[in-house]
Amino acid sequence: MDLELSAEDAAFRAEARAFLAEKLTPDMRAETARSAGVFSDGPLVRRWHAILYEQGWIAPSWPTTHGGCGWGVVRRYIWDSELAAVNAPTIPAMGLQMCGPVIMRFGTPAQKDFFLPRILSGEHYWCQGYSEPGSGSDLASLQLKAVRDGDDYVLDGTKIWTTHAHFANWMFVLARTRSEGKPQAGISFLLVDMATPGLSVTPIISTSGDHEVNQVFFDGVRVPAANLVGAENDGWTVAKYLLEFERGGAYAARLEGALSKVRRTAVEEGMTDDPAFMRRLADLDIDIAGVGATERRIISALSAGANPGAASSMLKTRGTETMQRITELALEAAGVYAAPDYAPARRAHTNWRPGPDHAVPAAARYLNARASTIYGGSSEIQRNILAKTLGL
Ligand SMILES: Cc1cc2nc3c(=O)[nH]c(=O)nc-3n(C[C@H](O)[C@H](O)[C@H](O)COP(=O)(O)OP(=O)(O)OC[C@H]3O[C@@H](n4cnc5c(N)ncnc54)[C@H](O)[C@@H]3O)c2cc1C
Repeated sequence: MDLELSAEDAAFRAEARAFLAEKLTPDMRAETARSAGVFSDGPLVRRWHAILYEQGWIAPSWPTTHGGCGWGVVRRYIWDSELAAVNAPTIPAMGLQMCGPVIMRFGTPAQKDFFLPRILSGEHYWCQGYSEPGSGSDLASLQLKAVRDGDDYVLDGTKIWTTHAHFANWMFVLARTRSEGKPQAGISFLLVDMATPGLSVTPIISTSGDHEVNQVFFDGVRVPAANLVGAENDGWTVAKYLLEFERGGAYAARLEGALSKVRRTAVEEGMTDDPAFMRRLADLDIDIAGVGATERRIISALSAGANPGAASSMLKTRGTETMQRITELALEAAGVYAAPDYAPARRAHTNWRPGPDHAVPAAARYLNARASTIYGGSSEIQRNILAKTLGL
């Protein structure tokens, strides 16, 4: 495993840092810091997307033939780490990292011509319609019905936990086009314009107070058959290909950023004299180093053309579980000030003034992080994959 950056990669890192220092304005940083959510809010996403699009850096993994950067895995990792290190707005993965690669692989020429430039420019904002009430880990049991009627499919049913459906104007869905036979063999992959009559979005507010997810209802929604990706009843193949893009990412840099905040709070709150607390902080430092090593192992395998295999399940599990432990320690460091409405009360009773680390109460981050071991394949499902790989 080669951990040294080449001269070209080091130069790219310097260029990326200079770009971020210039383009990521203080107000965008402040707005990013105000959300505990997985992705930044829609308006900030659109603004940051436009800046990266103009620079030509919006699609690091897309081939240059489709307007992407065509960067290799090392350069992508450097870029992801630099974004995480400066807490840049997080652009949802659903368009660029999920739907785009699927259309490149399975789309018709007309679908490629229409959708890819619009995903790239940000004109289309996508959400993912996989999960349903009762069909999450057991995704193949999904029930959203799509019945062929002339040149359209007519959709009836519901999707749930749909991240950013309230910002999105397009949605990719898995729908049931056949009830007989193996459940996997009766699913189709469709692209749905969110403005179609009969489609409605209902918010779900999470315990952290964030509005990120929704339930989406389909009541006779007509979708042109031209928006079918892959063959009818072969959507499972498309769905599985897309899921390969859902895992992975630069966890270590984000974890380091979150742990630095805990360290600063510990200093503010006089926790640094508590040996038990400091030991847990040190344990997390070691865990982050482990996550970083796993990331580099995956990068090394990918750049050598190999498949990282179960290492991505290990990374997802360790990355998200470490983040949850950091948010637990942050709660402890903040004490009573972890509560959502602590800032006005504290300001009123002391000379204390909130800094950027206090933009989101520790309790909100703690609660939001609970979801990370559920979405993108729960920790239990990842452990099943690991166990299978180890032949257990
Ligand atoms: C914040 C958030 C955002 C999301 N965004 C989206 C989105 O944009 N689009 C979308 O389609 N979905 C989304 N999801 C849904 C997510 O993919 C599902 O929640 C996830 O797949 C789990 O499914 P479930 O909620 O139905 O739980 P279930 O599958 O019912 O699981 C319940 C519990 O049982 C465990 N379990 C289930 N099966 C097994 C097994 N075989 N072995 C061991 N344990 C098992 C699970 O680990 C879990 O602890 C999101 C979820 C969250 C929390």
